[in-house]
Order: sequence, then structure tokens, then C-alpha cells
Amino acid sequence: MSEKLVDMLKTAGFDVLSCMQCGTCTGSCPSGRHTGFNTRRVLRDARKNKAEVLSDDDLWLCTTCYTCQERCPRGIPITDAILELRRLAVREGFILPEHRKVSEMVMECGHAVPLDEETKKKREELGLEPIPETVQKYPEALEELKTLLKCCKFDQLVAEK
Ligand code: SF4
Ligand code: SF4
Repeated sequence: MSEKLVDMLKTAGFDVLSCMQCGTCTGSCPSGRHTGFNTRRVLRDARKNKAEVLSDDDLWLCTTCYTCQERCPRGIPITDAILELRRLAVREGFILPEHRKVSEMVMECGHAVPLDEETKKKREELGLEPIPETVQKYPEALEELKTLLKCCKFDQLVAEK
């Protein structure tokens, strides 16, 4: 990663340099209450251009509840900045195995959680079509989705590096 993290965030509209390290975000974070995730530290390390911010699995512990963003006295869109950091992390090849698996499912069948036979049976028992109106029902639509994902290079993005 040649460009500085703080500059990339700024380009995306996130001025993390205005953070005064008050800790309101960390104190408000429901995820941080149960894990080692520390919002203030993520912001601090991003300001310092620490590349480890992107490789740290903790980056994925934010539930995107937006509490910190609502409470930040400096008005920093923290949650959105975390989402941008995740986007940069994936671009650098840092992606959790679980997320890779989900992405593979989407590429294969158009759903992160495809319908299984048991669910189809339950739907029929309830008087519903076994498969709802999604790409799973229409093979040609699924092929179109696959083409779109390839055009976006999504397959390359989530491939094991
Ligand atoms: S609440 Fe805002 S200003 Fe305070 S530490 Fe978090 S990001 Fe920085
Ligand atoms: S949006 Fe993420 S970082 Fe912010 S309070 Fe919620 S879980 Fe914590």
C-alpha cells in the first residue's frame, strides 16, 4: 500500500485527523463491551497510517450500529470510516475466511444462504412457491448475476491471494 491510509480516508471524505481521542466512541460501542474492539484506537492508528489497521481482524467486529457516529462530538462519520477501512482491507487482500465463503456462495448461487430442500418443503407446506422470486429460481438471471460479478472483478477481489 503506497498511499497513506489517512490520505485515502480523506479522499473518501473522512477527516480522521479531527478526532480528539475523547473516547466517546469506544465508551458507546456495544461490540467493544464484549470484545477487544476499540474504536478510538482504530481511528488513532489510522491517523498514524499504521498498516496493521487493515490486517487486524478486529476491524470486522464492528456491528455498524452507528452509535459512535451519532455521538462523536467532532461529527466524524466513524461507522462509515470503518466501512471504508474494510473496503481498503479487502482491496489489500485482508478478508476473513467466513466472508470469503459467503462471497463464494453468492458467486455460485446468488445468495449468501441459499434455500435448502428442507426450507423449500416448509414453504410448500405453508402454501408458498418452493422458491421465491430470486435468481435461485431463474437460471438465466443467475448467469447474468455471475457475469456482472465477473465484470466487477468481484471474483478476483475475494479469491485467495
Ligand atoms: S468520539 Fe469522535 S472525537 Fe472522540 S475519540 Fe471517537 S472519533 Fe475521536
Ligand atoms: S458502529 Fe461499530 S464501532 Fe460504532 S458503536 Fe457501533 S459497533 Fe461500535
